[in-house]
Amino acid sequence: MVVEKNKAVFVHYTLQENNAEGEVIESTHGDSPFGFIYGIGQMLPDFEANLKGLKEGDTFAFTIKAADAYGERDESAIVDIPKHVFEVNGSIPPGLLEVGNVIPLIDQEGNHYDGIVHSVGLESVKVDFNHPMAGIDLYFSGHIEGIRDANPEEIEHGHVHYGFEEYE
Ligand SMILES: [Zn+2]
Repeated sequence: MVVEKNKAVFVHYTLQENNAEGEVIESTHGDSPFGFIYGIGQMLPDFEANLKGLKEGDTFAFTIKAADAYGERDESAIVDIPKHVFEVNGSIPPGLLEVGNVIPLIDQEGNHYDGIVHSVGLESVKVDFNHPMAGIDLYFSGHIEGIRDANPEEIEHGHVHYGFEEYE
Protein backbone atom coordinates (compact mmCIF):
# COMPACT_ATOMS: atom_id res chain seq x y z
CA MET A 1 0.00 0.00 0.00
CA VAL A 2 1.36 3.43 -0.85
CA VAL A 3 0.47 6.97 0.13
CA GLU A 4 -2.29 8.13 -2.22
CA LYS A 5 -5.73 9.74 -2.25
CA ASN A 6 -8.17 8.61 0.47
CA LYS A 7 -5.56 6.65 2.43
CA ALA A 8 -5.24 7.26 6.15
CA VAL A 9 -1.54 7.97 6.54
CA PHE A 10 0.31 7.87 9.86
CA VAL A 11 3.69 9.51 10.20
CA HIS A 12 6.25 10.33 12.82
CA TYR A 13 7.87 13.63 12.03
CA THR A 14 9.90 16.48 13.41
CA LEU A 15 9.20 20.00 12.18
CA GLN A 16 12.08 22.46 12.39
CA GLU A 17 12.50 26.10 11.45
CA ASN A 18 14.10 26.58 8.05
CA ASN A 19 16.42 23.53 7.92
CA ALA A 20 17.80 20.44 9.71
CA GLU A 21 19.74 22.69 12.12
CA GLY A 22 16.76 24.88 12.94
CA GLU A 23 14.83 25.11 16.18
CA VAL A 24 12.34 22.25 16.67
CA ILE A 25 8.79 23.56 16.35
CA GLU A 26 7.05 20.26 17.01
CA SER A 27 7.71 16.55 16.97
CA THR A 28 5.55 13.43 17.24
CA HIS A 29 8.44 11.30 18.48
CA GLY A 30 7.64 9.88 21.89
CA ASP A 31 3.94 10.40 21.16
CA SER A 32 1.36 8.72 18.89
CA PRO A 33 2.05 9.05 15.19
CA PHE A 34 0.22 11.86 13.44
CA GLY A 35 -2.60 10.58 11.24
CA PHE A 36 -4.33 12.36 8.37
CA ILE A 37 -6.34 11.57 5.26
CA TYR A 38 -4.34 12.02 2.11
CA GLY A 39 -5.57 14.03 -0.85
CA ILE A 40 -8.57 15.83 0.63
CA GLY A 41 -6.98 19.20 1.35
CA GLN A 42 -6.37 18.57 5.06
CA MET A 43 -2.62 19.19 4.76
CA LEU A 44 -0.42 21.74 3.00
CA PRO A 45 -0.23 20.74 -0.70
CA ASP A 46 3.59 20.62 -0.60
CA PHE A 47 3.50 18.34 2.43
CA GLU A 48 1.34 15.86 0.53
CA ALA A 49 3.35 16.17 -2.69
CA ASN A 50 6.50 15.13 -0.81
CA LEU A 51 4.87 11.99 0.67
CA LYS A 52 3.12 10.79 -2.49
CA GLY A 53 3.85 7.15 -3.33
CA LEU A 54 5.85 6.41 -0.17
CA LYS A 55 5.39 3.05 1.60
CA GLU A 56 5.34 2.06 5.26
CA GLY A 57 8.82 2.50 6.73
CA ASP A 58 9.98 4.98 4.06
CA THR A 59 11.69 8.09 5.37
CA PHE A 60 11.29 11.66 4.19
CA ALA A 61 13.01 15.00 4.62
CA PHE A 62 11.97 18.14 2.77
CA THR A 63 11.53 21.87 3.08
CA ILE A 64 8.39 23.86 2.37
CA LYS A 65 9.13 27.48 1.54
CA ALA A 66 7.44 30.06 3.75
CA ALA A 67 5.46 31.37 0.76
CA ASP A 68 3.91 27.90 0.34
CA ALA A 69 3.28 27.45 4.07
CA TYR A 70 2.14 30.34 6.30
CA GLY A 71 3.23 33.06 3.91
CA GLU A 72 5.97 35.64 3.88
CA ARG A 73 5.99 38.26 6.58
CA ASP A 74 4.00 41.35 5.63
CA GLU A 75 5.33 44.58 7.15
CA SER A 76 1.93 46.24 6.60
CA ALA A 77 0.49 43.70 9.05
CA ILE A 78 2.34 45.55 11.82
CA VAL A 79 -0.23 48.08 12.96
CA ASP A 80 -0.03 51.11 15.25
CA ILE A 81 -2.74 50.95 17.90
CA PRO A 82 -3.37 53.77 20.42
CA LYS A 83 -2.59 52.66 23.94
CA HIS A 84 -6.00 53.62 25.31
CA VAL A 85 -7.53 50.76 23.31
CA PHE A 86 -5.90 48.39 25.79
CA GLU A 87 -7.28 50.08 28.89
CA VAL A 88 -9.51 48.10 31.20
CA ASN A 89 -11.47 50.32 33.60
CA GLY A 90 -9.24 53.30 32.76
CA SER A 91 -5.81 51.72 32.99
CA ILE A 92 -3.65 49.26 31.10
CA PRO A 93 -3.36 45.94 32.94
CA PRO A 94 0.20 45.55 34.28
CA GLY A 95 2.37 43.32 32.08
CA LEU A 96 -0.04 43.40 29.12
CA LEU A 97 2.01 45.52 26.74
CA GLU A 98 5.34 43.76 26.81
CA VAL A 99 7.20 42.98 23.62
CA GLY A 100 6.42 39.43 22.50
CA ASN A 101 3.12 39.13 24.37
CA VAL A 102 0.25 37.62 22.41
CA ILE A 103 -2.85 39.78 22.69
CA PRO A 104 -6.30 38.64 21.57
CA LEU A 105 -8.11 41.50 19.82
CA ILE A 106 -11.60 41.86 18.35
CA ASP A 107 -12.38 44.21 15.45
CA GLN A 108 -15.62 46.14 14.88
CA GLU A 109 -17.13 43.15 13.02
CA GLY A 110 -16.41 40.87 15.97
CA ASN A 111 -13.58 38.96 14.28
CA HIS A 112 -10.89 37.65 16.62
CA TYR A 113 -7.21 38.19 15.87
CA ASP A 114 -4.10 37.33 17.81
CA GLY A 115 -1.55 40.10 17.70
CA ILE A 116 1.98 40.05 19.04
CA VAL A 117 3.32 43.17 20.75
CA HIS A 118 6.11 44.35 18.45
CA SER A 119 7.16 47.56 20.16
CA VAL A 120 5.73 49.94 22.72
CA GLY A 121 5.77 53.73 22.25
CA LEU A 122 4.59 56.58 24.46
CA GLU A 123 1.13 56.93 22.92
CA SER A 124 0.76 53.81 20.84
CA VAL A 125 1.77 50.21 20.47
CA LYS A 126 2.87 48.42 17.31
CA VAL A 127 1.08 45.08 17.11
CA ASP A 128 2.18 42.41 14.65
CA PHE A 129 -0.69 40.48 13.07
CA ASN A 130 1.51 38.24 10.95
CA HIS A 131 0.99 34.53 11.57
CA PRO A 132 3.67 33.45 14.09
CA MET A 133 5.02 31.05 11.44
CA ALA A 134 5.04 33.62 8.63
CA GLY A 135 8.42 34.00 6.96
CA ILE A 136 9.65 30.65 8.25
CA ASP A 137 10.51 27.77 5.91
CA LEU A 138 9.23 24.47 7.30
CA TYR A 139 11.68 21.58 7.42
CA PHE A 140 9.97 18.21 7.94
CA SER A 141 11.80 14.93 8.50
CA GLY A 142 10.43 11.56 9.58
CA HIS A 143 9.03 8.27 8.34
CA ILE A 144 5.77 6.61 7.34
CA GLU A 145 4.53 4.62 10.33
CA GLY A 146 1.50 3.07 8.64
CA ILE A 147 -1.03 3.38 5.82
CA ARG A 148 -4.55 2.03 5.56
CA ASP A 149 -7.74 2.78 3.65
CA ALA A 150 -9.74 5.63 5.15
CA ASN A 151 -13.36 4.72 5.81
CA PRO A 152 -16.17 6.78 4.24
CA GLU A 153 -17.03 8.48 7.51
CA GLU A 154 -13.43 9.61 7.97
CA ILE A 155 -13.32 10.96 4.43
CA GLU A 156 -16.58 12.82 5.02
CA HIS A 157 -15.28 14.30 8.30
CA GLY A 158 -11.85 15.07 6.88
CA HIS A 159 -9.87 13.44 9.69
CA VAL A 160 -8.90 10.00 10.99
CA HIS A 161 -10.94 8.26 13.70
CA TYR A 162 -8.66 5.29 14.38
CA GLY A 163 -4.98 4.47 14.40
CA PHE A 164 -3.63 2.26 11.67
CA GLU A 165 -3.51 -0.92 13.77
CA GLU A 166 -7.06 -0.72 15.14
CA TYR A 167 -8.74 -0.68 11.76
CA GLU A 168 -7.32 -2.63 8.85
ZN1 LIG B 1 -14.94 12.72 12.72
